[in-house]
Order: sequence, then structure tokens, then C-alpha cells
Amino acid sequence: PTQGEKLPLTLLIAAPRGFCAGVDRAIEIVERALKRYGAPVYVRHEIVHNRYVVDSLKAKGAIFVEELDQVPDDAPVVFSAHGVPKSVPAEAEQRKLTYVDATCPLVSKVHRQAERQIAAGRHILFIGHKGHPEVIGTFGQVDAGQMTLVETVEDVANLNLPEGTELSFLTQTTLSVDDTQAIIEALKARFPDIVGPRGEDICYATSNRQAAVKDIAPGSDLVLVIGAPNSSNSLRLVEVAERCGTAAKLIQRAYEIQPEWLDGVGTIGLTAGASAPEELVREVVDKLSEWRVVEEHTLTSAEETMVFKLPRELA
Ligand code: SF4
Repeated sequence: PTQGEKLPLTLLIAAPRGFCAGVDRAIEIVERALKRYGAPVYVRHEIVHNRYVVDSLKAKGAIFVEELDQVPDDAPVVFSAHGVPKSVPAEAEQRKLTYVDATCPLVSKVHRQAERQIAAGRHILFIGHKGHPEVIGTFGQVDAGQMTLVETVEDVANLNLPEGTELSFLTQTTLSVDDTQAIIEALKARFPDIVGPRGEDICYATSNRQAAVKDIAPGSDLVLVIGAPNSSNSLRLVEVAERCGTAAKLIQRAYEIQPEWLDGVGTIGLTAGASAPEELVREVVDKLSEWRVVEEHTLTSAEETMVFKLPRELA
């Protein structure tokens, strides 16, 4: 091409991508709490793992803290979509705080299953990623020692449980569908009597976004995933693309894209994790359009219609 002439770029945009019903609901809860109670409204932990979302709520009067002791007695507080240990609402009750729980209903469902398994006398093997707030929240539904974390197939082989322990398993909602399947198979092989959830605990949004990446990655030279480094479901999207044999990059904002990433690239796949807003997808398309003549194609692998009810106090 002559100097200044832009090369073409095919952009394969995954659908579904971006916000899930649990993230939509959590953001709506903070916005409604701000209207109902007035600013400031405290939020315990990032409401969802996305800095752009957090910053826009901060601008509207939300204050983000990590623990409840950072919340003054007379201020309302929202718990994040990832869920909280039982001790958190208990402490809020004890301090007579006004609180709204934005835990995704699909995470709450796992919490209730955990209680039921313990009530049935079973020890729980929980498949998840150590240190993720959802895992901390789910472990906090039961007493210490009633649940053991399993992160890998190797962990299954290394489990050392007292003879005769009755077992069940549960999972984090934002795991790799394929890795989790392998871990569940290893669990069933080693513990044939283990009891598991009827459906999967991996949520519809996580599995749909992974399936959508499997559709765009094979035809792409590079896949861009918009999401935060602490967003479990976004990290899994990068892995899925890489396992299709396509290079993939996690980016938070368009400015992180380096022009040299496009060297020799004719097709880019684009998706966004469940906590990344559509504005950021448009921002990336605009950035790429500065360098190339972009032709957009959306590849839709599933339609999503899920909507969750708001908590009664804010409905
Ligand atoms: Fe809920 Fe799944 Fe969204 Fe997490 S990713 S908030 S579990 S719908």
C-alpha cells in the first residue's frame, strides 16, 4: 500500500460477550442504592471486577472498601456480585448497618447447595481458584474444615481424607468448562459415590462466552479479550482462545493495544468478559479503525435472555 493507505482488518466479534445478568443486576443495585439512600453508598469489594465500572460508580458517589470495618455506622453498604462469607451480613446485622446484597443469584444458589450438603453429612470438595472472592464467600457458608479446595486434576490425586468420608463436590461459577469437566471426571473415578450438582455450577454466562470464543478463535490471527486481570471468567476466555491455537491478549482498555500486535494480522477476534461493558468493545473497535479499515462480523453462538430480579428493598 502507498503511505497513509490503511490495510483491511476483519474483526470477528463474539456473541454473547460482556455483561451477564448478574453483573447488570449488581451495577443496577449500586445505582438504585445511590438514588434511594443518597451518596455516599459504600461497596464492599469491587462490585464487579472492572475498573471502568468501578470508576463510573465512584463518580456517582460510591465508595469502595475491602472490609466492613471501613464502613461508618450510619452509611449504607452493598456487597459485591461475587458473594460474601456469612460472617459479613452477620456483622452488618450486629452493627445495624443498612446493607444490600448484590451477590449474583447463581452464586447464592451454590451457597445454598453447600449448606444442604453439609446438612446431609457430606464433606464438600470445592473446585475453584484459591483466593478468588467467590471462593472465599462460598467457603464462608460452612464451618472451617467442612470444605476442601480442589484446583487441579493433580489435587484430586493428592486428597487425603479420613476413611468413610461421604463426599460431594461444588464448583465456582466462572471456571473453564473443559478443565472442570476433567477435574469432575477425576473425582468420580477416585470417589465413585461422590454426589454432585444436577446441572453445573459453572454459570450460563461463563459457558456461553467460552463457547463463543471457540467459534471466533480458529479463524483469527489474534484474539483480544477485554477484561481485568482479576476477572476469573475473562482469564478463562484467554485460555480458551490459546487452546484453539490462537494467540490471545487480555486488555482492560483500548490504549493498551500495541500497534505491533497487528503486524501480519488480517483477522482479529474480539470478546469481553462478563464484567466488561459494551462501551469498551466499541472503544477497541474505534482504536483498531485508526490503523485499519475494519470490517466487523458478529458471530452469535447463543442468545441470552436471563434477567435477575432486584432485591426487594430496591425493586
Ligand atoms: Fe452471575 Fe455468572 Fe455473571 Fe458471575 S458470571 S455474576 S455467576 S451470571
